Amino acid sequence: MKTNTKPNNDSIKNMNIGWQFDNSYARLSEFFYAQLHPVPVRAPRVAILNHALADSLGLEIRKLSEEEAALLFAGNAVPDMAQPIAQAYAGHQFGHFNMLGDGRAILLGEHLTLIGDRFDIQLKGSGQTPFSRRGDGRAALAPMLREYIISEAMHALNIPTTRSLAVVTTGESVMRETLLPGAILTRVAASHIRIGTFEYAAGLENTEGIKALADYTIGRHYPDLMDAENPYLLLLNRVIERQASLVAKWLLVGFIHGVMNTDNMTISGETIDYGPCAFMDAYDPNTVFSSIDHLGRYRYSNQPRIAQWNLARFAETLLPLIHPVQEKAITLAEEAIHAFPEIYQIHWTAGMRKKLGLFTDETEDIELIETLLAWMHKHRADYTNSFHALASKTLPEDAVFRDAEFVAWHARWQTRLSRQSSSMNMSLCLMRANNPAIIPRNHRVEEALSAASEHGDYLLIHQLLAAVTNPYVDAPEHSDYRIPPAPSERVYQTFCGT
Ligand code: AMP
Ligand code: MG
Repeated sequence: MKTNTKPNNDSIKNMNIGWQFDNSYARLSEFFYAQLHPVPVRAPRVAILNHALADSLGLEIRKLSEEEAALLFAGNAVPDMAQPIAQAYAGHQFGHFNMLGDGRAILLGEHLTLIGDRFDIQLKGSGQTPFSRRGDGRAALAPMLREYIISEAMHALNIPTTRSLAVVTTGESVMRETLLPGAILTRVAASHIRIGTFEYAAGLENTEGIKALADYTIGRHYPDLMDAENPYLLLLNRVIERQASLVAKWLLVGFIHGVMNTDNMTISGETIDYGPCAFMDAYDPNTVFSSIDHLGRYRYSNQPRIAQWNLARFAETLLPLIHPVQEKAITLAEEAIHAFPEIYQIHWTAGMRKKLGLFTDETEDIELIETLLAWMHKHRADYTNSFHALASKTLPEDAVFRDAEFVAWHARWQTRLSRQSSSMNMSLCLMRANNPAIIPRNHRVEEALSAASEHGDYLLIHQLLAAVTNPYVDAPEHSDYRIPPAPSERVYQTFCGT
């Protein structure tokens, strides 16, 4: 097994910026990981640092010079109490089972905040590991910046997600379709336990391993289940609940993950792995961006179904723990999985009611929502802007809102609102908190990434970040970010060459 030697740490060894490492995952059996250090890079330089996130983690990165921060976030200097590992996992990729693992990431360890919250600190793009297969272990700058921007936007949209603490360039090139600048992203996550982590143990028929992993996961993410009679069935139910809620939140803001393989679905319920993801502009349930998703498996409207399919793979790994009699275990697991569509529907409908300013539930609301969406689809109306327009006191001057079908729908919606005892102002407040003015539109993301990656110019990245991290504020200085792409600006595909 390949073990990188420990790099020279001296420059920041005694620089305590508040790390509190407690590496519980590394206390699991070595079946689940390989111990190794990041491969040092030639000339690391800071591209972007997330000071707000560092502050919330209790990390005083302001104490570091630019050079020290670059060494730290490149993995050239590893903090004293870190215990670097590459995690093993498997996964169903586009439906096919593969053994995977961190082929280009190193988990430095788990940092505890002052209030005791536990976060994985992971370097992505940190060099080859025993799980690299034919990969170079590295990452290109633009996709790492894309993950930084979109994950921070998702966080600001109140959607559970891993976050991004830093991006550094490596001073090395990576070969994709062309030579590109290399980079490393520091990812912060509730954990990196995936459905694929369970599939790895199940694939190797390590029943003891599955139990150890399930117990560990319960202790870390669902501690109230520890003393339950059948904690493993309840674990399945909880993960179903969190994923149903998560995917509903994605659809409510028009997010398309792009590569919902089981290795890219967390047990914590956080969004992870921003590869070919993008936000939808014009409403179309069949929107797909990923250049490698030829069949549209991961298209916008298929995401709930795929989540359920992935959860069924998770359930299969838990069968031996759920009940000693296999048929009984299957019946219990199937019951749980079959409940997904309804749980999902409850979350989505609740979210849609908020987007329409509805505090109460009426059966016809579903039809009201579906009619609006069908109208948006027919007119290729912009998803974000249409909902945001509803949240303004008077509809904006736009030809699309003078369409007879929309006028009829609008009148119906107004009648529905008037049946509530709450005031119209309260509805508007609810809507403004649930209909973002700004999403990271793909053409603006691409434009900012090109400037940074091709010209080393980060101005657009900072401007874009300022806008997308305040998505519910309709600030005049950010109004350009609300404009959908002109036909010539439309980005139809995002590429996986990360
Ligand atoms: P992803 O599509 O990023 O979720 O990655 C799927 C699998 O491929 C994971 O096991 C990654 O670690 C691995 N992988 C992706 N890119 C590379 C790379 N450049 N070098 C080594 N492994 C990689
Ligand atoms: Mg992945």
